[in-house]
Amino acid sequence: MKTETLTATPQGLARAAAILRAQGLVAFPTETVYGLGGDARSDLAVARIFDAKGRPRFNPLIVHVPDLAAAKTYAHFDARAEAIAAAFWPGPLTLVLPLRADAGLSPLVTAELDTVAIRIPAHPVAQALLRAFGGPLAAPSANPSGRVSPTRAAHVIDGLSGRIDAVLDGGACAVGVESTILGLAGTPALLRPGGIATEALEATLGPLATGGNAQKPSAPGQLASHYAPGAAVRLNADADLPGEVRLGFGPGLSDLNLSPTADLVEAAANLFHMLREADVLAGQGGQIAIAPIPEHGLGRAINDRLRRAAAPRG
Ligand code: AMP
Ligand code: MG
Repeated sequence: MKTETLTATPQGLARAAAILRAQGLVAFPTETVYGLGGDARSDLAVARIFDAKGRPRFNPLIVHVPDLAAAKTYAHFDARAEAIAAAFWPGPLTLVLPLRADAGLSPLVTAELDTVAIRIPAHPVAQALLRAFGGPLAAPSANPSGRVSPTRAAHVIDGLSGRIDAVLDGGACAVGVESTILGLAGTPALLRPGGIATEALEATLGPLATGGNAQKPSAPGQLASHYAPGAAVRLNADADLPGEVRLGFGPGLSDLNLSPTADLVEAAANLFHMLREADVLAGQGGQIAIAPIPEHGLGRAINDRLRRAAAPRG
């Protein structure tokens, strides 16, 4: 694909919003760094984000919304969260809060956790894009996995040209470092230092725990938050055994198919809900046989998730 460069004019914003509505990807400026935006409600759009960045695993993404009213449709706010939101939003602060049951976000955005990371960016172009689009945007930094975060449209083009639909040019980012991530789903915890000073948060919340590690939300302690099928899971199953439910990939007979055309992005978009459906079909004591998934591109993230599903549980 050819990556369009758009400007923050009414026409440019309308074009960006149209791409996002079609489940495409648009990089956009925020006050921290450029984000790679996709509709946070769309499995396909979010799968495309992981694919474009070449991320080797499905870690949770930050959901960007224009205002507090929108944020409250996705997360539960207690008195602490209300106070912090009133003091620091819009701005370079992300809050990890309990996910609402009726949030309607793609499970790929939250990595199936029961919490969600939300931010209201202050940048006028980010605000204009969120309003033109009219929905929540999942947006990790707009760089290939493992590379430095982009603070100019040209950096985005350097890293992702040909892999995303468009970049909305809003000049250089003022803050230049990622947002601070504050966990407020339980004991307040600093999950990542960033654009808002820890001291400023501690003035409201008192001393913050720093034990949490937002970079590794799938560390053993959080594995239980991932959906673990009740059925046994057998990986790299070329053929299924009698009684197994077959979760296929590519052409051929199967009970459910992640992607009949062997498209890894489509398979990633289908993965989480099809694992649940296969589990229901297999029933208590049943077994799910999963076709081999190639270990390249999004296949690496899919296989990472599948290995967790197949791991013995205590
Ligand atoms: P980025 O790639 O800059 O969007 O980084 C997002 C950061 O937010 C990562 O470090 C994630 O692990 C973290 N994060 C997102 N959602 C959650 C969550 N529900 N719980 C804990 N950390 C989260
Ligand atoms: Mg990043």
